Amino acid sequence: MSLRIDVLTLFPGMFAGPLDESIVRRARDRGILDLRIVDFRGFARDKHKTVDDRPFGGGPGMLLKPEPLFEAVESLRQPGTKTVLLSPSGRKFSQAAAGGLAKEKHLILVCGSYEGVDERFRDRLVDEEISIGDYVLTNGALPAMVVIDTVCRLLPGVLGDEASSVDESFTNGFLEYPQYTRPAEFRGMKVPEILLSGHHAEIEKWRRRQALKRTSERRPDLLSDSMNHDPDGLKKPSGSKTE
Ligand code: SAM
Repeated sequence: MSLRIDVLTLFPGMFAGPLDESIVRRARDRGILDLRIVDFRGFARDKHKTVDDRPFGGGPGMLLKPEPLFEAVESLRQPGTKTVLLSPSGRKFSQAAAGGLAKEKHLILVCGSYEGVDERFRDRLVDEEISIGDYVLTNGALPAMVVIDTVCRLLPGVLGDEASSVDESFTNGFLEYPQYTRPAEFRGMKVPEILLSGHHAEIEKWRRRQALKRTSERRPDLLSDSMNHDPDGLKKPSGSKTE
């Protein structure tokens, strides 16, 4: 199974680099992710390749005109395509939302620019609006790359160890527990004894307890009131590898 993503942007050059390295590169090389960066200025009809205009009613800045956006999306979409607009007004992006997008077959990610897009484009052609956080970026390229990277690592066959995306922060409702590698002692700081014990059940318990502690200290909002507590006062992370 593979995912095709078309990105509509005025700044295709921004995508070179981040999407040519690491896991995204591997996914593309393996044919799991078919990524196409499309400069939608190419869909402008006039000789100046105009894609923006002033907002009716006045106000600062420019808006992306509807014609090139409509033409671009209509030329790319197929039955089953999901068209996503990157926008500060969208639903806040999350690991769960990424999981949903990773199940799609074809996404069109539309990057806004200037003050945003003509509302008729939103109304008619956008299936979903995504915000990557409560702040405003210059254009939708970085948000699109955040979405692509997050979705890509959830596609089957992309990560070497399939469990590694299951056991990460947010996936199981918790932040990740602390992790250590060699040496066992570094500048007087020792790795917790339990991790050196080889006692897998106890290590798993310790990790769950640490994940809960870290989550309640840093992100209590992630813990739901209905959490079931086990005898240790811990809920087992739902995606946990061992049972
Ligand atoms: N005037 C818009 C507003 O107040 O919501 C902001 C426009 S912003 C300068 C230009 C484009 O960057 C947006 O159309 C959107 O595509 C993208 N963008 C900026 N911040 C974003 C965010 N937090 N999440 C997703 N996209 C964002």
